[in-house]
Amino acid sequence: MGGVGDRPPAGGPPPGPAGAPQAGWLTTRLDPLLAWARRWSLFQYPFVTACCAMEFMSTMCAHFDMSRFGAEIPRWSPRQSDVLWVVGTIVHKQAPALRRVYEQMCEPKWVVAFGTCAAVGGFYDNYSVVQGIDKILPCDVYIPGCPPRPEAVIEGLMLLQEKVGRGELSRWQQQQPGAGRKAG
Ligand code: SF4
Repeated sequence: MGGVGDRPPAGGPPPGPAGAPQAGWLTTRLDPLLAWARRWSLFQYPFVTACCAMEFMSTMCAHFDMSRFGAEIPRWSPRQSDVLWVVGTIVHKQAPALRRVYEQMCEPKWVVAFGTCAAVGGFYDNYSVVQGIDKILPCDVYIPGCPPRPEAVIEGLMLLQEKVGRGELSRWQQQQPGAGRKAG
């Protein structure tokens, strides 16, 4: 077997026992590798409007430590983010700004509804509040609670990571022309 830095033989690694590649070779397909990398390097953009913000801050702080999941850095720029956290109540006057942020984000992108207000409007069943952000954005994960506990937020993040890691299409990808192949 070649050492580190040795040039690999033409035509790929020599077969080991039973045709398996010899130890020291790492092979994979590109799609699972990209899905794995995306799963553990989500960059989030928090769109924070209301009281759920306190629970979001709590989840980001040391006691719960979002950095354990490779998603600890809010970018504060949609162009550097691929996960949109909608945290709190969204009123119709805010909807165009939220939509603009979403359209400026990196692709592929995912959306998380943080709390009952973002998911379904909460108890604000009135003319001014958007009754769920999926009225204006494709949403991938809904986290219930008023507000959700940090444990629920982390579970929502892990659910999203599992979907990304499996190479599932995001709701954004499903809406693209020619959607039908797996992410990657
Ligand atoms: S779900 Fe509850 S805590 Fe969160 S923004 Fe709505 S009212 Fe506030």
